[in-house]
Amino acid sequence: MAVEDSKVRVVVRVRPPTPRELESQRRPVVQVVDERVLVFDPEEPDGGFLGLKWGSTHDGPKKKGKDLTFVFDRVFGETATQQDVFQHTTHSILDSFLQGYNCSVFAYGATGAGKTHTMLGREGDPGIMYLTTMELYRRLEAHQEEKRFEVLISYQEVYNEQIHDLLEPKGPLAIREDPDKGVVVQGLSFHQPTSAEQLLDMLTRGNRNRTQHPTDANATSSRSHAIFQIFVKRQDRVPGLTQALQVAKMSLIDLAGSERASSTHAKGERLREGANINRSLLALINVLNALADAKGRKSHVPYRDSKLTRLLKDSIGGNCRTVMIATVSPSSLAYEDTYNTLKYADRAKEI
Ligand code: ADP
Ligand code: MG
Repeated sequence: MAVEDSKVRVVVRVRPPTPRELESQRRPVVQVVDERVLVFDPEEPDGGFLGLKWGSTHDGPKKKGKDLTFVFDRVFGETATQQDVFQHTTHSILDSFLQGYNCSVFAYGATGAGKTHTMLGREGDPGIMYLTTMELYRRLEAHQEEKRFEVLISYQEVYNEQIHDLLEPKGPLAIREDPDKGVVVQGLSFHQPTSAEQLLDMLTRGNRNRTQHPTDANATSSRSHAIFQIFVKRQDRVPGLTQALQVAKMSLIDLAGSERASSTHAKGERLREGANINRSLLALINVLNALADAKGRKSHVPYRDSKLTRLLKDSIGGNCRTVMIATVSPSSLAYEDTYNTLKYADRAKEI
């Protein structure tokens, strides 16, 4: 199957080093070779390699690295823009989405690796959630004549195995499976932003409503999964005929940090949260692994093991299109996290 047609697209985004990483003058551990290839923990060639150095100090004797080469559908280096990432991820599945296929796009990686930057972005530099919605509006505008489309958005989080509406915060919401509508979150609010500004405002407001707690590992560590969904309802405009209503949904997910809960020295309340976070994230990993093992054969996929996987049951596997954006830091400070993320992303290619 050609890369463009395959049901899962796996890309990696390497973010620029933070000031702290630069100051530490540790070596970079990810070398982007080209648009599809990266090397983890590259061997340092004799005499050193200028392009791999930060700062002027030498690490000491020549480092013997793991020197692992990975190939992905796309690799984004630190200079990649939000638009670059959008063009080679969600953009490539918009056609399928408009044909009625459910889609999901995940940002996966440790806390601080760049998930929220990629999905939500920051002021003046919006991410994939915004760029996808705007591109969708543009395309639907072009189809106004022959089709009737309605676009609705929702924004929710799974935190501590509870679902919360991020746009109209209220008590935890329940999931129901409807024979016609698929997975339904009861009481979730749907919105129709009428301008780019309104959409941006909703995204920012929703993100502010996310549950965040400081932990030992990272002051802004996030244990919540944020799920932004775009629903497109379509009814063909054929005079005298009422065509079946088609609904497709695209789920854009900023996952909780993938680092192991133990590394945050979590205790008490935090530990319970940590265990639950792992539940949704581990369940997602198990679902994706089961799909990878199955490779088209029928086998048990454990969607029911967590809120996140129940919520996404009709959006991963089957005919759905999935994009996994693995985000990593380039610094040796995040060595284990980066190694784990790359290994997992590599495995996800088999789905
Ligand atoms: P995560 O959501 O995975 O915990 P963030 O997206 O919050 O990580 O990123 C951590 C920090 O790095 C933030 O200050 C963010 O602005 C910055 N950052 C992440 N990715 C990039 C990028 N591609 N370009 C510039 N800055 C980035
Ligand atoms: Mg984040």
